[in-house]
Amino acid sequence: EAHATQRALLSLSSSSGQDGVEKVINLDHGDPTMYEKYWMKMGERTTIVIPGWQSMSYFSDVKNLCWFLEPELAKQVFRLHKAVGNAVTEGRHIVVGTGSSQLFLAALFALSPKDGSQPMSVVSAAPYYSSYPSMTNCLKSGLYNWAGDARSFSKDGPYIEVVTSPNNPDGFVRHSTVNRTGGILVHDLAYYWPQYTPISSPADHDLTLFTVSKATGHAGTRIGWALVKDAEVAKKMTKFIELNTIGVSRDSQLRAAKILEVMTDTSQNLGSSELGESFFRISYHLMAERWELLRAAVNNGRMFSLPDFAPGFCHFLQQETQPQPAFAWLKCEDDAVEDCESFLKGHKILTRGGRHFGVGPKYVRISMVDRDINFSLFLKRLSTIQS
Ligand code: PMP
Repeated sequence: EAHATQRALLSLSSSSGQDGVEKVINLDHGDPTMYEKYWMKMGERTTIVIPGWQSMSYFSDVKNLCWFLEPELAKQVFRLHKAVGNAVTEGRHIVVGTGSSQLFLAALFALSPKDGSQPMSVVSAAPYYSSYPSMTNCLKSGLYNWAGDARSFSKDGPYIEVVTSPNNPDGFVRHSTVNRTGGILVHDLAYYWPQYTPISSPADHDLTLFTVSKATGHAGTRIGWALVKDAEVAKKMTKFIELNTIGVSRDSQLRAAKILEVMTDTSQNLGSSELGESFFRISYHLMAERWELLRAAVNNGRMFSLPDFAPGFCHFLQQETQPQPAFAWLKCEDDAVEDCESFLKGHKILTRGGRHFGVGPKYVRISMVDRDINFSLFLKRLSTIQS
């Protein structure tokens, strides 16, 4: 088994290219491939076997409001939140989705009045996650539409504000900004995990979205969950998913449940043991190392700058920790460069420019969770650009 793991690790690094001189480095998406290494080292611990006769029915749990939710996934989600302390689960319904992306749309559907005279406005403070506007408007729904930056939102009437904390793309902790009656909040806490930000207290909101994509790195499993206070809202979200996909892959839910189970097992035992090393502790240190290297490379010249964050006490890791987001929100300080995305593209570094997030082209978002090989190539190229 050790040999197989070693071979797999080797093939990972070589498949990503070796000389690195002309290679295009794609850091546009937040594809969390950085975590492959950890799970590879965990070997067979997260392997599950699903016999051909299992999970055949559409139904997972007919007694549950969310009838396609696997009881084992529900159990592991509750157990993980309890262990990490990042969300209140008492008095919450879980709605499972094909990624939290599906749940975002389910939430818009559930929270918009069906008999409204005009579509419900959906806002988020800029810079906001680039998928919110496109997902909100893709079907030109009569129920809701994208109304842009929450900070300049002044329309009367009901609205939905998406609060992403820590935020994608800039990594800051956020609270609602509109603060008016008639507003409904959706909290997207995809990055509220100890490797990215201090866990200050359990989140206690009406509707909160989480995803395995950014927690464990299993983006391809496509599993997210919503913690929902109001049973009627949870029912409508469940209905939306029923109309879309008649439920969520049971196989994926079982796989996610196993991965969450192992992750919690390792986390409850913060030292190294036969359970394996703590996922969050290792990931926290990996992210810390990357951010230190990136800041050193950026501070080596005057072309770029990064946001500064205040440290906080992490109740999970039991120490003061630094925010170290899954994305670097890089600003191009050079007056000669108008468009940072095009500039970096010229150096074969693919990033996502500020305009996608509702701000100007001086900013780019860069993934910090790609494989080691791409991250080090990126640092090298950044140093070359600045020299
Ligand atoms: N919300 C935020 C803030 C994200 O960054 C992402 C992934 N980039 C998602 C939601 C969607 O995640 P998924 O559909 O993979 O669960």
